[in-house]
Amino acid sequence: MGASGARWGYDGDIGPEHWGSLDPAFAACETGREQSPIALTGAESAELPEIGFDYRPSPITIRNTGHAIQVDCEGGGGITVEGARYELQQFHFHARSEHIVEGGAFPLELHLVHAREDGALAVIGVFLEEGAANRALTPVWSALPATPGPARTVAGAVDANDLLPEQRTSWRYRGSLTTPPCSEGVSWIVMTQPVNISRKQIAAHNAIFPNNHRPVQPLNGRTLLTDRGR
Ligand SMILES: [Zn+2]
Repeated sequence: MGASGARWGYDGDIGPEHWGSLDPAFAACETGREQSPIALTGAESAELPEIGFDYRPSPITIRNTGHAIQVDCEGGGGITVEGARYELQQFHFHARSEHIVEGGAFPLELHLVHAREDGALAVIGVFLEEGAANRALTPVWSALPATPGPARTVAGAVDANDLLPEQRTSWRYRGSLTTPPCSEGVSWIVMTQPVNISRKQIAAHNAIFPNNHRPVQPLNGRTLLTDRGR
């Protein structure tokens, strides 16, 4: 995400600690007070409004953005959160997970990015942990583009429902994009239950993007809610 000009990355002098000074458009990466990701600790237990999932199978295109493997899925449905409708735009992957739980990270984190009609974003984060192969990802993993380039159509359809864990409990907080320009006002929903991905699938991803995660950012007094364990 983010079409701004400056080159950025995950290492060295274009790494996350420098993003805010690479381009004036990236200032929020440094000065923002509601940044993502965060450590999902100290959450307040709450009864959270249910998310209406209305995903459906859609054809996909896949591309290597230079920062992540991204899958665009037009017509893949969307979600309703507190009465507002958000359409699924794309999903992409980070290695290792960006959010951390009880001090630990997962091998990968999936971000399902949704937009409201007025442009506001809601992102669902799903942790991927090593286990059985993730069949829902087969159409994507069979066409992983090793180098940056334009979107390519992939055979088969993806239903975002199949990317979600069975349990629908989550952490929720107000945050930002985890990539430049680090824009704030993003509604974050991070699922508490991880889904499986095989060691082989992790290796295939990490052969292309071994490290594309931003370190955790300070909470700065924000409210972190969860219905985990309720
Ligand atoms: Zn992301």
